[in-house]
Amino acid sequence: IIEAGQPEHSVVTTCAYCGVGCSFKAEMRGTEVVNMVPYKDGEANHGHSCVKGRFAWGYTTHQDRITKPMIRAKITDPWKEVSWEEAINYAASEFKRIQGKYGRTSVGGITSSRCTNEEAYLVQKLIRAAFGTNNVDTCARVCHSPTGYGLSQTFGTSAGTQNFDSVRQADVIMVIGANPTDAHPVFGSHMKKRLRQGAKLIVVDPRRIDLVKSAHIKADYHLPLKPGTNVAMINALAHVIVTEGLVKEDYVAERCDMMEFNRWRDFVSDKRHSPEEMEKYTGVKAADVRAAARLYASVKNAAIYYGLGVTEHSQGSTMVMGMANLAMATGNVGHIGAGVNPLRGQNNVQGSCDMGSFPHELTGYRHISTDAVREQFNQAWGVTLDPEPGLRIPNMLDAAVDGTFKGIYIQGEDIAQSDPNTKHVTAGLEAMECVVVQDIFLNETANYAHVFLPGTTFLEKDGTFTNAERRINMVRQAIPPVPGYADWEVTMMLSKALGYEMKYSHPSEIMDEIAALTPTFKGVSYKRIEEMGSIQWPCNDAAPNGTPTMHIDKFVRGKGRFMITEFVPTEEKVGPRFPLILTTGRILSQYNVGAQTRRTGNVAWHPEDILEIHAFDAEQRGIRDGDNVAIISRVGETSLKAVISERMQPGVVYTTFHHFGTGANVITTDFSDWATNCPEYKVTAVEVRLSNHQ
Ligand code: SF4
Repeated sequence: IIEAGQPEHSVVTTCAYCGVGCSFKAEMRGTEVVNMVPYKDGEANHGHSCVKGRFAWGYTTHQDRITKPMIRAKITDPWKEVSWEEAINYAASEFKRIQGKYGRTSVGGITSSRCTNEEAYLVQKLIRAAFGTNNVDTCARVCHSPTGYGLSQTFGTSAGTQNFDSVRQADVIMVIGANPTDAHPVFGSHMKKRLRQGAKLIVVDPRRIDLVKSAHIKADYHLPLKPGTNVAMINALAHVIVTEGLVKEDYVAERCDMMEFNRWRDFVSDKRHSPEEMEKYTGVKAADVRAAARLYASVKNAAIYYGLGVTEHSQGSTMVMGMANLAMATGNVGHIGAGVNPLRGQNNVQGSCDMGSFPHELTGYRHISTDAVREQFNQAWGVTLDPEPGLRIPNMLDAAVDGTFKGIYIQGEDIAQSDPNTKHVTAGLEAMECVVVQDIFLNETANYAHVFLPGTTFLEKDGTFTNAERRINMVRQAIPPVPGYADWEVTMMLSKALGYEMKYSHPSEIMDEIAALTPTFKGVSYKRIEEMGSIQWPCNDAAPNGTPTMHIDKFVRGKGRFMITEFVPTEEKVGPRFPLILTTGRILSQYNVGAQTRRTGNVAWHPEDILEIHAFDAEQRGIRDGDNVAIISRVGETSLKAVISERMQPGVVYTTFHHFGTGANVITTDFSDWATNCPEYKVTAVEVRLSNHQ
């Protein structure tokens, strides 16, 4: 007998918020989800969860859900609801018309780090095979693309080195540009548990995040560097390790390319990289930097965990390589308790990158220009792929403004809100002749769309997500797709209408194709994931049960490669007109641009974005706690409520980006990482003034 209000059955699935990838039981009554309960056998979360996964799933049935396809000829026209067939045919005919008029490469697409691996794979396949262009990119472009570049250059693959449980054996934890207790809460609590057991903690962050000092936790060293000086800091840490004889010489000699190491050793041992010299850039006391470097190099297991405070800089890729250098020099790669670990933002950032979403790479990070790789896909897909990499998102927008890029298919990404310099993004979108948006809500990007294809939430489809520890977790359908079709089915319909038919009857068949085409996924199948609970790639003949720790006997690239990491100050300068640096981050209850969490009860915990400002800067401007202030940068102006905060250092202000209307990206600039174009969200020169509207 089932009592009223009691669940009838449950479906085990994976949280669709952050890159921790917690497993949950969706408890059901009929086709209604009544509860999300953290799943005790989930290998990423071991029965734990945070307030997002546990409570913030009500958006899936929110009244704002769009459930019918819509089209319009001009973005000033009202939307017209149409059948799926009409919407798909309209989109396909527009793309065909545009390609006929402007050429094959005048269109492109964006895969989503919110959707499943299988869906990301299909979108990039559609762009490459049906559109016939490599103009495909992923929203990972604006978060962890420097991780891909930096770890690939140094270690040979674009992924973190450890599983989450590895932190249980870390003796020293260095957290750089990450705020795990807010942004990756379940992993943050694992980390805190290890710290309470006695592991030492170094925090490198401009802001005094919770980990620096909270109940039972106190960082041994907090290095509150100025935003934009990460590379100066990593070089200073490396300088101490090299010049004070702290290099693990045996490890380096056995595991690393000695020619590159010697070059790097000469580079960082130069006095200009000393903590004393770097202090003028970082603002951090040289003695603290020296002590932190000694601590990091003094233990058997030292682990680096980092976030977007590393990657979203003009030297994001350089900094990733700098951290890899540090870990190799101290023998901290290839064993439990150590490593270089990106804390991925979105639930499937790792997966969308793995799935060949970058314009230069096919699945498993293999370059599109490699003949043998391309030939494999040509055979499997029955096409002839272009060997030239396509356009990245910012290049697509630039080309749109220039008039050479005319159509785009965007699945599960709101570039008008989440990408930098909103004015430029919207100018690019406005200049296109066909913008197709597939999403669950009419997002900001949809304001510039001609076709809206309703998307599905994680509760409405089968598939897989890959979390920050390379763990492939099952996503299981709990309720039927609200708009009638799951996203992967919609991509198939569009592909067929474009003349390239894909024939999958279930996402498991898509995974089978991915495994057949991707050496690191060769042993992955739904059957195997069901048997094992989850699988960490690489999973193949060499590692049939997956790989919790990477680079154990040798690096993926063979010998580890030290890279020269010259510090180049960002072009975004403070000065008399813009004397403060704005940096950004997340808060526990909210998620990214808030499209989901703002439509749940979680909004009560954080109803608006605020500007944190140091008392000194506030006093100089006559700003009191709670005043409305205008924040002005070289590209725009927004307004927020000011909160005087001891977390801030003088000269630096901080905001979150979860609410629309006060969006931080109205004022962020076009500067980006030199290697990947990841935007420099973390450094914007601004002035803050009392607003006229109090
Ligand atoms: Fe979801 Fe991340 Fe919270 Fe886990 S820690 S419940 S994955 S948001």
